[in-house]
Amino acid sequence: MSTKRLQVLIIAMCVISLFAAGCKADEKGNTGLTEGQGQQETEGELNEEKTDHEEIEAREHDDPKHEREEEQAKKEEVTISIGAIGDVLLHARVYETAEAENGEYDFSPMLAAVEPLLQAPDFMMANQESMPGGVELGLSTYPLFNSPQEIVRDLQNAGVDMIVGANNHTLDGGIEAVESALDFYDEIGMDYVGVYRDTEDRQTDRIVTVDGVKLGVLAYTYGTNGIPIPEGHEDVVALIEPERMVEDVHRMREKVDVVIVHLHWGNEYEREPNEEQRQLAAELSEAGVDVIFGHHPHVLQPVEWISAESSEQEDGPSSDNPSNDEPSNKETIVFYSLGNFLSGQDFEYTDIGGVATVEITKVTEGDDTSVNVHSPHLEPTLVVNENNQYAVFPMAEADRPSISGATRKEIVEHTHRY
Ligand SMILES: [Zn+2]
Repeated sequence: MSTKRLQVLIIAMCVISLFAAGCKADEKGNTGLTEGQGQQETEGELNEEKTDHEEIEAREHDDPKHEREEEQAKKEEVTISIGAIGDVLLHARVYETAEAENGEYDFSPMLAAVEPLLQAPDFMMANQESMPGGVELGLSTYPLFNSPQEIVRDLQNAGVDMIVGANNHTLDGGIEAVESALDFYDEIGMDYVGVYRDTEDRQTDRIVTVDGVKLGVLAYTYGTNGIPIPEGHEDVVALIEPERMVEDVHRMREKVDVVIVHLHWGNEYEREPNEEQRQLAAELSEAGVDVIFGHHPHVLQPVEWISAESSEQEDGPSSDNPSNDEPSNKETIVFYSLGNFLSGQDFEYTDIGGVATVEITKVTEGDDTSVNVHSPHLEPTLVVNENNQYAVFPMAEADRPSISGATRKEIVEHTHRY
C-alpha cells in the first residue's frame, strides 16, 4: 500500500469515527415510546450529549469566554408522558364479584395485570362512566348505574391520577350521587374533570404541572341519557357546546403548555368515528387543542393526527424539536375512542380497550420555549371473564381470545393510523 493511500485511509477513518460519535448522540436524544418515562433519564441523556458537544467545542475554540456564553444559552429539555383509559363501566356482574366479606369492595385484583401500563405514564386519566355514589345510595346497574366508591381508590392505587366524569351516565343517580362521589374524590385526593360541584368548581381550571410541563384538562359529554340537568346545578356536567368549548380552550391555551380534551361522543359499537366527531375534532384542533381522548362507543376507534386549517404556530405545538420524527404539519392527536377499559359488556369488541399514551417534550432556551406532543401509542387491553371473575389484561399477555376473536395485531392495525 502506498503512503498516499495510507494517508487517505487514515483521514477516511477519522471522518467515519467523528460521524459515528454524532450519530450516537442523536440516537440517544430520541426517546423511546414507552421506555423514556422519567425526567432523570432524559436529562441524563442530554448531559451526555452536551458533554460530547463541549469536548468538540473546547478543542475548536480553547476560549473560556466562549464557554461562558455557551453556559448562558443552555438548553433545557424535559420529556413527560401522559395517558388515558376508556370506560370504567361497572355492571352488577362486575362489582358483585369484587365484594369482600366485610361488605367493602376490592377491584385491585381486576386491575393487577394492567397496573404496570397504568403506572408508566407520568400523568394518567380514566373515564369513570358509572358514577361511584357508593353503597349508602344503593348500588345499581344498567340503565341507571351507581357504583362502589372503592373502584376509584383502586384505580388510584393502580396509577390513575384524574377521573373524567363527563358522560351520559353522570346524572344516573342524580345530584346526590354526584356529590357523594366528589366528596370521596376529595377525601382520597383524586382530581376530577367534566363533572363539577357548582359553577365555581367548573370555572376552576384543571391545570396539572408535571416536571415543569403545564397540562390543562377539559372534558365534555354529548348528553346525559335524557336526564335533565337539575335547576340550580347548571354546571354539574360539561356538555358538548362548541362555542363554550372553544372559549374554554382559548382561556386554557394562555395558561398551559398542552391542552387535553376528553370527549364523550360518537356512536356506540361503531369502530370508526362519525362525521360529527371529525368535525368537532377539527374545530377543537383549530382552537388549539393538542390531545383529544374519546369515550363512549365501548369499542376502540382509530388514532389519528389531524391538522387545523389555520394553525396558530406560536400557541400550538411546535415542530421545532429534536425528538420529533413526525412531519411538522401534525397538530392534534385524536384517540377517537378508547373503548371499554373495565366493563361487563359482552358484545363483539366491547371486551377490548386500550391504554393511550403520548409524550410531551418541552424545550426552554433563554426566553424561547417550544412544546412538542409526539410518540402517540395505544396499547390494547382485554377484559377477561373467567368463571364470572373479571380482570383486565394487556392483550399481549391475555391467554385467551377476545369475544370477536380479534388478535392484538388486528387491533393495532385497525387503530394505528398515526
Ligand atoms: Zn357513554
